[in-house]
Amino acid sequence: MRDHLAATTHPARILILGGGLVAAETASLFCQAGHDVALIARSPLPGATAIGEHAAQRLLDLHRTQLSTHLGRTPRAIRTQPGHLTIDLDDGTRAEGNLAIVAHGTVPAAPAPWTGPDGIAVDDHLRHLHTPGQRLYAAGGVAAHHHHELGTYRIDHWDDATAQGAHAASTLLHDLGLANDPGPYVPTSLFSARIHGHTLTGAGHPGLADAARIASTDPLLIVHERNGLPIAATGLDAAPLVLQWRNRLFTRTSSAQ
Ligand SMILES: Cc1cc2nc3c(=O)[nH]c(=O)nc-3n(C[C@H](O)[C@H](O)[C@H](O)COP(=O)(O)OP(=O)(O)OC[C@H]3O[C@@H](n4cnc5c(N)ncnc54)[C@H](O)[C@@H]3O)c2cc1C
Repeated sequence: MRDHLAATTHPARILILGGGLVAAETASLFCQAGHDVALIARSPLPGATAIGEHAAQRLLDLHRTQLSTHLGRTPRAIRTQPGHLTIDLDDGTRAEGNLAIVAHGTVPAAPAPWTGPDGIAVDDHLRHLHTPGQRLYAAGGVAAHHHHELGTYRIDHWDDATAQGAHAASTLLHDLGLANDPGPYVPTSLFSARIHGHTLTGAGHPGLADAARIASTDPLLIVHERNGLPIAATGLDAAPLVLQWRNRLFTRTSSAQ
Protein backbone atom coordinates (compact mmCIF):
# COMPACT_ATOMS: atom_id res chain seq x y z
CA MET A 1 0.00 0.00 0.00
CA ARG A 2 2.91 2.29 0.72
CA ASP A 3 4.16 1.75 -2.86
CA HIS A 4 0.71 2.47 -4.28
CA LEU A 5 0.36 5.60 -2.20
CA ALA A 6 3.79 6.85 -3.31
CA ALA A 7 2.60 6.62 -6.90
CA THR A 8 -0.66 8.49 -6.41
CA THR A 9 -1.73 11.99 -5.44
CA HIS A 10 -1.68 13.10 -1.83
CA PRO A 11 -4.09 12.96 -0.20
CA ALA A 12 -5.25 9.72 -1.81
CA ARG A 13 -8.89 8.71 -1.80
CA ILE A 14 -9.01 5.34 -0.01
CA LEU A 15 -12.06 3.10 0.11
CA ILE A 16 -12.24 0.64 3.01
CA LEU A 17 -14.71 -2.19 2.63
CA GLY A 18 -15.78 -3.77 5.90
CA GLY A 19 -17.00 -2.73 9.29
CA GLY A 20 -14.93 -4.70 11.77
CA LEU A 21 -11.95 -3.73 13.89
CA VAL A 22 -9.41 -4.28 11.10
CA ALA A 23 -11.40 -1.91 8.84
CA ALA A 24 -11.76 0.65 11.63
CA GLU A 25 -8.09 0.59 12.60
CA THR A 26 -6.95 0.73 8.97
CA ALA A 27 -9.29 3.65 8.24
CA SER A 28 -7.97 5.43 11.31
CA LEU A 29 -4.32 5.00 10.24
CA PHE A 30 -4.99 6.44 6.79
CA CYS A 31 -6.95 9.39 8.22
CA GLN A 32 -4.03 10.07 10.55
CA ALA A 33 -1.69 10.06 7.53
CA GLY A 34 -3.83 12.79 5.96
CA HIS A 35 -5.70 10.72 3.37
CA ASP A 36 -9.32 11.03 2.35
CA VAL A 37 -11.07 7.86 3.56
CA ALA A 38 -14.50 6.37 2.90
CA LEU A 39 -15.78 3.42 4.90
CA ILE A 40 -18.21 1.11 3.11
CA ALA A 41 -20.01 -1.41 5.35
CA ARG A 42 -22.97 -3.74 5.00
CA SER A 43 -24.07 -3.01 8.56
CA PRO A 44 -25.70 0.33 9.42
CA LEU A 45 -23.75 0.12 12.69
CA PRO A 46 -20.32 -1.34 11.85
CA GLY A 47 -18.78 -3.59 14.48
CA ALA A 48 -22.02 -4.05 16.45
CA THR A 49 -21.88 -7.85 16.18
CA ALA A 50 -18.31 -8.02 17.43
CA ILE A 51 -18.23 -5.36 20.15
CA GLY A 52 -21.90 -4.61 20.87
CA GLU A 53 -24.11 -1.69 19.87
CA HIS A 54 -22.98 0.85 22.47
CA ALA A 55 -19.27 0.68 21.71
CA ALA A 56 -19.98 0.44 17.96
CA GLN A 57 -22.09 3.61 18.14
CA ARG A 58 -19.27 5.45 19.92
CA LEU A 59 -16.81 4.29 17.24
CA LEU A 60 -19.18 5.41 14.51
CA ASP A 61 -19.40 8.86 16.12
CA LEU A 62 -15.59 9.00 16.01
CA HIS A 63 -15.50 7.86 12.36
CA ARG A 64 -17.97 10.54 11.34
CA THR A 65 -15.62 13.28 12.49
CA GLN A 66 -12.79 11.88 10.33
CA LEU A 67 -14.12 10.16 7.23
CA SER A 68 -17.14 9.64 4.98
CA THR A 69 -19.33 6.57 5.32
CA HIS A 70 -21.57 4.41 3.12
CA LEU A 71 -23.37 2.30 5.72
CA GLY A 72 -25.96 -0.43 5.20
CA ARG A 73 -24.56 -0.75 1.67
CA THR A 74 -23.21 -3.69 -0.33
CA PRO A 75 -20.90 -3.39 -3.35
CA ARG A 76 -22.54 -4.54 -6.57
CA ALA A 77 -19.67 -3.96 -8.98
CA ILE A 78 -16.06 -2.87 -8.77
CA ARG A 79 -14.42 -1.29 -11.84
CA THR A 80 -10.71 -0.73 -11.88
CA GLN A 81 -8.47 1.46 -14.00
CA PRO A 82 -4.81 2.24 -13.32
CA GLY A 83 -4.78 4.46 -10.24
CA HIS A 84 -8.55 4.72 -10.00
CA LEU A 85 -11.50 2.53 -9.11
CA THR A 86 -15.25 2.84 -8.87
CA ILE A 87 -17.50 0.82 -6.62
CA ASP A 88 -21.22 0.67 -7.44
CA LEU A 89 -23.30 0.26 -4.32
CA ASP A 90 -26.67 -1.44 -3.98
CA ASP A 91 -28.53 1.87 -3.49
CA GLY A 92 -27.40 3.10 -6.91
CA THR A 93 -24.70 5.39 -5.51
CA ARG A 94 -21.02 5.21 -6.38
CA ALA A 95 -17.82 5.47 -4.41
CA GLU A 96 -14.65 6.53 -6.24
CA GLY A 97 -11.11 6.10 -5.01
CA ASN A 98 -7.45 5.60 -5.83
CA LEU A 99 -7.27 2.31 -4.00
CA ALA A 100 -9.50 0.02 -1.97
CA ILE A 101 -8.88 -2.32 0.93
CA VAL A 102 -11.19 -5.22 1.57
CA ALA A 103 -11.45 -6.12 5.27
CA HIS A 104 -14.32 -8.58 5.24
CA GLY A 105 -12.92 -11.01 7.81
CA THR A 106 -11.30 -14.40 7.77
CA VAL A 107 -12.24 -18.01 7.09
CA PRO A 108 -10.45 -20.96 8.68
CA ALA A 109 -7.74 -22.68 6.63
CA ALA A 110 -7.77 -26.28 7.85
CA PRO A 111 -6.06 -29.28 6.23
CA ALA A 112 -8.07 -32.12 4.66
CA PRO A 113 -10.51 -33.55 5.60
CA TRP A 114 -11.72 -30.30 7.21
CA THR A 115 -11.16 -27.99 4.26
CA GLY A 116 -14.05 -25.60 3.83
CA PRO A 117 -15.42 -22.61 5.64
CA ASP A 118 -16.46 -24.42 8.82
CA GLY A 119 -13.03 -25.06 10.35
CA ILE A 120 -12.44 -27.90 12.79
CA ALA A 121 -15.34 -28.57 15.15
CA VAL A 122 -14.20 -28.94 18.76
CA ASP A 123 -16.01 -29.63 22.02
CA ASP A 124 -15.78 -27.30 25.02
CA HIS A 125 -12.39 -28.81 25.93
CA LEU A 126 -11.03 -28.23 22.38
CA ARG A 127 -11.09 -31.93 21.52
CA HIS A 128 -12.14 -32.77 17.98
CA LEU A 129 -15.90 -32.97 18.33
CA HIS A 130 -16.51 -36.06 16.25
CA THR A 131 -13.58 -38.22 17.38
CA PRO A 132 -13.05 -37.21 21.03
CA GLY A 133 -11.14 -40.40 21.87
CA GLN A 134 -8.48 -39.95 19.18
CA ARG A 135 -6.55 -37.22 20.97
CA LEU A 136 -6.98 -34.71 18.19
CA TYR A 137 -7.34 -31.09 19.29
CA ALA A 138 -7.73 -27.74 17.55
CA ALA A 139 -7.11 -24.21 18.77
CA GLY A 140 -7.10 -20.67 17.44
CA GLY A 141 -8.71 -19.28 14.31
CA VAL A 142 -9.28 -22.72 12.81
CA ALA A 143 -11.35 -24.05 15.76
CA ALA A 144 -15.15 -23.92 15.69
CA HIS A 145 -16.21 -24.27 19.31
CA HIS A 146 -19.30 -26.19 20.42
CA HIS A 147 -19.80 -25.18 24.02
CA HIS A 148 -22.63 -26.74 26.01
CA GLU A 149 -23.89 -23.31 27.17
CA LEU A 150 -22.29 -20.74 24.88
CA GLY A 151 -23.29 -22.53 21.67
CA THR A 152 -21.20 -22.54 18.50
CA TYR A 153 -18.61 -19.83 17.96
CA ARG A 154 -15.21 -19.03 16.48
CA ILE A 155 -12.77 -16.40 17.69
CA ASP A 156 -9.96 -15.01 15.56
CA HIS A 157 -7.58 -12.86 17.54
CA TRP A 158 -4.05 -13.36 18.81
CA ASP A 159 -4.44 -13.60 22.56
CA ASP A 160 -7.42 -15.90 22.37
CA ALA A 161 -5.60 -18.18 19.90
CA THR A 162 -2.73 -18.44 22.40
CA ALA A 163 -5.07 -19.11 25.32
CA GLN A 164 -6.82 -21.83 23.33
CA GLY A 165 -3.49 -23.47 22.52
CA ALA A 166 -2.63 -23.57 26.23
CA HIS A 167 -6.05 -24.98 27.10
CA ALA A 168 -5.81 -27.67 24.41
CA ALA A 169 -2.43 -28.68 25.88
CA SER A 170 -3.97 -28.89 29.37
CA THR A 171 -6.82 -31.02 28.03
CA LEU A 172 -4.33 -33.34 26.32
CA LEU A 173 -2.35 -33.77 29.55
CA HIS A 174 -5.62 -34.54 31.35
CA ASP A 175 -6.64 -37.05 28.68
CA LEU A 176 -3.25 -38.76 29.14
CA GLY A 177 -3.88 -38.98 32.88
CA LEU A 178 -1.10 -36.52 33.67
CA ALA A 179 -3.07 -33.50 34.90
CA ASN A 180 -6.40 -32.45 36.37
CA ASP A 181 -9.34 -31.57 34.14
CA PRO A 182 -8.87 -27.92 33.09
CA GLY A 183 -12.65 -27.59 32.65
CA PRO A 184 -14.45 -26.13 29.64
CA TYR A 185 -12.68 -23.39 27.72
CA VAL A 186 -14.27 -19.96 28.11
CA PRO A 187 -13.00 -16.92 26.19
CA THR A 188 -11.75 -14.10 28.43
CA SER A 189 -8.70 -12.89 26.49
CA LEU A 190 -8.01 -9.21 25.93
CA PHE A 191 -8.06 -7.45 22.58
CA SER A 192 -7.52 -3.83 21.67
CA ALA A 193 -7.48 -1.46 18.72
CA ARG A 194 -6.32 2.13 18.38
CA ILE A 195 -8.94 4.11 16.47
CA HIS A 196 -8.91 7.88 15.81
CA GLY A 197 -6.74 8.57 18.84
CA HIS A 198 -8.80 6.39 21.19
CA THR A 199 -8.19 2.87 22.46
CA LEU A 200 -10.91 0.29 22.28
CA THR A 201 -10.22 -2.54 24.73
CA GLY A 202 -12.24 -5.69 25.21
CA ALA A 203 -12.15 -8.92 27.17
CA GLY A 204 -14.04 -12.06 26.23
CA HIS A 205 -16.30 -12.48 23.20
CA PRO A 206 -19.16 -9.92 23.17
CA GLY A 207 -20.73 -11.71 20.19
CA LEU A 208 -21.95 -14.47 22.53
CA ALA A 209 -23.97 -12.09 24.73
CA ASP A 210 -27.77 -11.76 24.78
CA ALA A 211 -27.76 -8.44 26.66
CA ALA A 212 -25.44 -5.51 27.32
CA ARG A 213 -25.46 -2.84 29.96
CA ILE A 214 -23.51 0.37 30.35
CA ALA A 215 -21.42 0.04 33.52
CA SER A 216 -19.75 3.43 33.05
CA THR A 217 -20.42 6.29 30.62
CA ASP A 218 -17.16 8.21 31.07
CA PRO A 219 -15.08 6.35 30.24
CA LEU A 220 -17.46 4.11 28.34
CA LEU A 221 -17.57 0.58 29.72
CA ILE A 222 -20.05 -2.01 28.52
CA VAL A 223 -20.63 -5.32 30.28
CA HIS A 224 -22.00 -8.03 27.99
CA GLU A 225 -24.13 -10.74 29.60
CA ARG A 226 -25.53 -14.11 28.68
CA ASN A 227 -28.39 -15.41 30.81
CA GLY A 228 -27.46 -12.76 33.35
CA LEU A 229 -23.83 -13.90 33.51
CA PRO A 230 -21.14 -11.35 32.58
CA ILE A 231 -19.16 -12.92 29.73
CA ALA A 232 -17.38 -9.96 28.12
CA ALA A 233 -16.51 -6.31 28.65
CA THR A 234 -15.66 -3.58 26.17
CA GLY A 235 -14.54 -0.04 26.84
CA LEU A 236 -13.25 3.06 25.12
CA ASP A 237 -10.18 4.52 26.83
CA ALA A 238 -11.15 2.28 29.74
CA ALA A 239 -8.42 -0.39 29.79
CA PRO A 240 -8.09 -0.48 33.62
CA LEU A 241 -11.85 -1.05 33.99
CA VAL A 242 -11.85 -3.76 31.33
CA LEU A 243 -8.96 -5.46 33.14
CA GLN A 244 -10.94 -5.39 36.40
CA TRP A 245 -14.00 -6.85 34.69
CA ARG A 246 -11.95 -9.54 33.02
CA ASN A 247 -11.44 -11.17 36.41
CA ARG A 248 -15.19 -11.21 37.02
CA LEU A 249 -16.25 -12.80 33.72
CA PHE A 250 -18.08 -16.11 33.94
CA THR A 251 -18.58 -15.76 37.69
CA ARG A 252 -22.18 -15.69 38.82
CA THR A 253 -21.64 -13.50 41.90
CA SER A 254 -20.10 -10.65 39.89
CA SER A 255 -23.26 -9.81 37.95
CA ALA A 256 -24.78 -8.22 41.02
CA GLN A 257 -21.78 -5.95 41.62
C1 LIG B 1 -4.93 -7.95 8.70
C2 LIG B 1 -5.12 -8.62 10.04
C3 LIG B 1 -4.90 -7.90 11.18
C4 LIG B 1 -5.03 -8.50 12.42
N1 LIG B 1 -4.81 -7.75 13.53
C5 LIG B 1 -4.95 -8.30 14.73
C6 LIG B 1 -4.71 -7.53 15.89
O1 LIG B 1 -4.37 -6.36 15.85
N2 LIG B 1 -4.88 -8.15 17.10
C7 LIG B 1 -5.26 -9.44 17.20
O2 LIG B 1 -5.41 -9.92 18.32
N3 LIG B 1 -5.48 -10.19 16.11
C8 LIG B 1 -5.35 -9.66 14.88
N4 LIG B 1 -5.57 -10.43 13.77
C9 LIG B 1 -6.01 -11.81 13.92
C10 LIG B 1 -4.82 -12.73 14.24
O3 LIG B 1 -3.83 -12.58 13.25
C11 LIG B 1 -5.33 -14.19 14.28
O4 LIG B 1 -6.44 -14.30 15.12
C12 LIG B 1 -4.24 -15.12 14.81
O5 LIG B 1 -3.10 -15.04 14.00
C13 LIG B 1 -4.78 -16.54 14.87
O6 LIG B 1 -3.73 -17.38 15.28
P1 LIG B 1 -3.65 -18.88 14.77
O7 LIG B 1 -2.40 -19.43 15.34
O8 LIG B 1 -4.94 -19.55 15.05
O9 LIG B 1 -3.57 -18.78 13.17
P2 LIG B 1 -2.44 -18.12 12.25
O10 LIG B 1 -1.67 -17.09 12.98
O11 LIG B 1 -3.12 -17.76 10.97
O12 LIG B 1 -1.42 -19.31 12.00
C14 LIG B 1 -1.81 -20.43 11.21
C15 LIG B 1 -0.51 -21.09 10.72
O13 LIG B 1 -0.84 -22.36 10.14
C16 LIG B 1 -0.19 -22.47 8.88
N5 LIG B 1 -0.99 -23.37 8.04
C17 LIG B 1 -2.19 -23.12 7.46
N6 LIG B 1 -2.62 -24.22 6.79
C18 LIG B 1 -1.67 -25.17 6.97
C19 LIG B 1 -1.55 -26.51 6.53
N7 LIG B 1 -2.48 -27.11 5.76
N8 LIG B 1 -0.46 -27.20 6.89
C20 LIG B 1 0.50 -26.62 7.67
N9 LIG B 1 0.43 -25.35 8.11
C21 LIG B 1 -0.64 -24.64 7.76
C22 LIG B 1 -0.13 -21.04 8.36
O14 LIG B 1 0.87 -20.91 7.38
C23 LIG B 1 0.19 -20.27 9.64
O15 LIG B 1 1.57 -20.27 9.90
C24 LIG B 1 -5.42 -9.86 12.52
C25 LIG B 1 -5.64 -10.59 11.36
C26 LIG B 1 -5.50 -9.99 10.13
C27 LIG B 1 -5.72 -10.81 8.89
